[in-house]
Amino acid sequence: MDRGIQIARLFGIKIRIDWSWLLIFLLISWNLTSVFAQIQPDWSLVFSIVMGVSASLLFFLSVLAHELGHSLVAQSQGIPVDSIMLFLFGGIANIREEPKSPGAEFIMAVMGPVVSILLGLALILLGGIGLELDTFQATQPMQILEGLGPLRTLAMWLGSVNVLLGVFNMIPGFPLDGGRVLRSIFWAITDNLRKATRWASFVGQGVAWVMIVSGISMIFGIQIPFFGEGFIGGLWLILIGWFLNNAASRSYQQIIIRDVLENVPVRKMTKQNPPTVPSNITVDALVEDYIMQTDDHAFPVMDDDRLVGIVCLDDVRKVKGPDRSTLYVSEIMTPRDELKTISPDDDAHNALTTISKNAIRQLIVMEGDQVFGMVRRRDIVRFLQLQSDDFMSITGGL
Ligand SMILES: [Zn+2]
Repeated sequence: MDRGIQIARLFGIKIRIDWSWLLIFLLISWNLTSVFAQIQPDWSLVFSIVMGVSASLLFFLSVLAHELGHSLVAQSQGIPVDSIMLFLFGGIANIREEPKSPGAEFIMAVMGPVVSILLGLALILLGGIGLELDTFQATQPMQILEGLGPLRTLAMWLGSVNVLLGVFNMIPGFPLDGGRVLRSIFWAITDNLRKATRWASFVGQGVAWVMIVSGISMIFGIQIPFFGEGFIGGLWLILIGWFLNNAASRSYQQIIIRDVLENVPVRKMTKQNPPTVPSNITVDALVEDYIMQTDDHAFPVMDDDRLVGIVCLDDVRKVKGPDRSTLYVSEIMTPRDELKTISPDDDAHNALTTISKNAIRQLIVMEGDQVFGMVRRRDIVRFLQLQSDDFMSITGGL
């Protein structure tokens, strides 16, 4: 997933931000500016804005520190980390493989929250050095900051936000860190990653539904412990719950899909001797003589037994009616050098990943220089559905 723009590279890991992150950055800056302007009457408006924006940027660095906590543990266990992406709900480290043992998963999952909580406590301590204890007897959270100098204000705010970040992530909803910790424990008990993921995912979906229902209650004016009441807070909770629910069921699906398809050769799902077309016929001829004669969506294009490309329904659809009698297959096909292919002995999980990543429907299976056959997305899905009930509901999520 290469969304967002890259802003830096740390420890060989690309740091990216998604556009949705800008939204949360502006929201936090705006909200903090108004809070600072209210509780720090000595500060000018411009100074409050500067402090609001600085605090937002430091918050961004805190999320990054949290994700680096996970990533560096992963790297130390030989698991490559592609990128860290910051987006609306925080950060995601794009760690390419699953950890190899329950212990490894436990340490990897717990290190993010540990970084956040330790960083938070250190900042609160630093910000609080030399303050009278009764400063902390405030009724509203933000009142603690009242009358504090700029540096103390930043340290105290950032410190408490980091502690919250660590605690929130320990909510036992997979794929949140707390859910991963839970999964590593289930995994250690059952010695079965699939079972452990299923349980952790169920708990995750349960937690997500509690959030959604609480959010709806908040919108209707019911007071929820810790989260309070109100429309905006309620909406936010619903959004987070919805996101968590999706993430939980998706990550479960991905685990089982990998579990079933890994080590199954593509050969098993390949349709051999698919109909092929020559490159020197018109699009009209392609439609009449090939497409209308089969139920295939894509055809390998072959000249003298040599693969030169692939042409599919979408390529034909892009050609306007009158042009179909003058354009040739060679002009609308995807040429060989832009084509992704796979070998019959590659595993089917690889095939599905390549198909999903490139948003295509099929891959040509090549044995050396020869076309062995075609493997289509729907054939892989059917294979999955034959393996387990879990897949009966899967089609869109792949
Ligand atoms: Zn985390």
